[in-house]
Amino acid sequence: MAYATTYPYTGEVLKTFADATDAEVAQAITAAHTAFLAWRETGFAERARVMHAAAEILRAETDAFAKLLTLEMGKLFTEAKLEVALSADILDYYAVNAERLLAPEKLPVAHRDEGEAILVHEPLGVILAIEPWNFPYYQIARIIAPQLSAGNTVLLKHASNVPQSAAAFDDLMRRAGLPAGAFHNLYATRHQVEMILNDPRVHGVALTGSEGAGALVASQAGKALKKSTMELGGSDAFVVLADADPEKTVKWAVFGRHWNAGQVCVSSKRMIIVDPLYDAFLERYKTGVAGLVAGDPYDPATTLAPLSSQGAADEIKEKIREAVAYGAKAEEVGPPVPNRGAFVQPTILTEIAEDNPARYWEFFGPVSMLFRAKDEADAVRIANDSPFGLGGSVFTSNTKHGAEVAAKISTGMVFVNHPTMVKADLPFGGIRRSGYGRELIGLGIKEFVNHKLIDVV
Ligand code: NAP
Repeated sequence: MAYATTYPYTGEVLKTFADATDAEVAQAITAAHTAFLAWRETGFAERARVMHAAAEILRAETDAFAKLLTLEMGKLFTEAKLEVALSADILDYYAVNAERLLAPEKLPVAHRDEGEAILVHEPLGVILAIEPWNFPYYQIARIIAPQLSAGNTVLLKHASNVPQSAAAFDDLMRRAGLPAGAFHNLYATRHQVEMILNDPRVHGVALTGSEGAGALVASQAGKALKKSTMELGGSDAFVVLADADPEKTVKWAVFGRHWNAGQVCVSSKRMIIVDPLYDAFLERYKTGVAGLVAGDPYDPATTLAPLSSQGAADEIKEKIREAVAYGAKAEEVGPPVPNRGAFVQPTILTEIAEDNPARYWEFFGPVSMLFRAKDEADAVRIANDSPFGLGGSVFTSNTKHGAEVAAKISTGMVFVNHPTMVKADLPFGGIRRSGYGRELIGLGIKEFVNHKLIDVV
């Protein structure tokens, strides 16, 4: 059975779940389609009521929801509570803004005196969401809040290591008053994902996850002629210019690389520091990383969580070994992490030459790659020398200049003086191997709607 809760701090398997049967999947598609036919007729006010209600429940029961996140994927309980709050904010955002974002648009038409051309945004139907374990609730909220608000319905295939979090969100939406079938969590197999995609009542797929899964599901969607959005991996550059405030910059670098145990698509994975600051930055950064406290994720004093699974920890250790075999220098930092649980010793990689393949990998854990840039132009060159194009940041005391440098970094999001940030009212998404499409704000709600022209001549 693939779906199971294994507590990453102890390695104990706490609960297993049977895969869905094909009959259950077929029934869920029918229920989602039936729910769609009614849900699309509800007004924005009714949908907003459900979104608000779900947000209220999340806020009222933050600790209970957060506990499950820590239990299933090991994140710090303090961070789990912030994830619950963010998920509530996203639900509220669409409750407030969906109607405005999808308002019909009157189009100016040249050389025509009569009639009117109107662009309306109609829901498409059932959408499949395939989500990863690193932010189990946020990833769900990010797709269902806009899609349900637009009038679509959603089937969820969540990561196999967070089955209880997936079930908790399914239950949340039911308690918030969402009609049966409109959002349904399925413990689906790979074969069933394809079966869902091939069903004519299903109109698209939104996947967040690895490049491998993205490429495969995108090709299945393509074959079925279904729209897809892909939110994939990243290796965000953290560019430090010569006039950056050393203390603040290092504080954000340590945080940007190590929150969620470094398992964030927009973690600051590549620190690129201009030459005059490099040595001092490296020393300060080492001290900052060494100050992290690895341990029980429920303990508020812990600042470095275990990874989501022993498999994930083993994989990253192997990647470090390979990076070194290709010529990089690896330095383990800080007091030894606990030897029980899926911990990885924070590691700094330097001297990662251009012909070292590890330079272009995504390290999904507490591993920092540091690069010395000759100057600002070289820093931008290194930042853009990546197969990924998700987020990034620039640190400088001249914010106007920071924005100019940000414009030269080719990713979907660049922040000046902050690691890539996730907020309910900012768009999210990338380019190149980081995928395509955008989530959140108006861009997210318009990914799976029919932009239909009604032209009255
Ligand atoms: P993953 O292995 O690709 O899993 C993500 C989801 O895809 C899971 O639900 C997984 O199910 C499913 N999946 C995998 N292969 C599939 C297939 N062939 N057919 C159907 N479903 C499939 O990713 P991960 O390793 O858990 O997550 C980490 C990756 O996600 C990193 O690369 C990270 O950067 C990326 N990520 C991107 C964003 C973003 O917004 N851009 C956000 C978070 C994470 P199972 O669990 O059953 O395998």
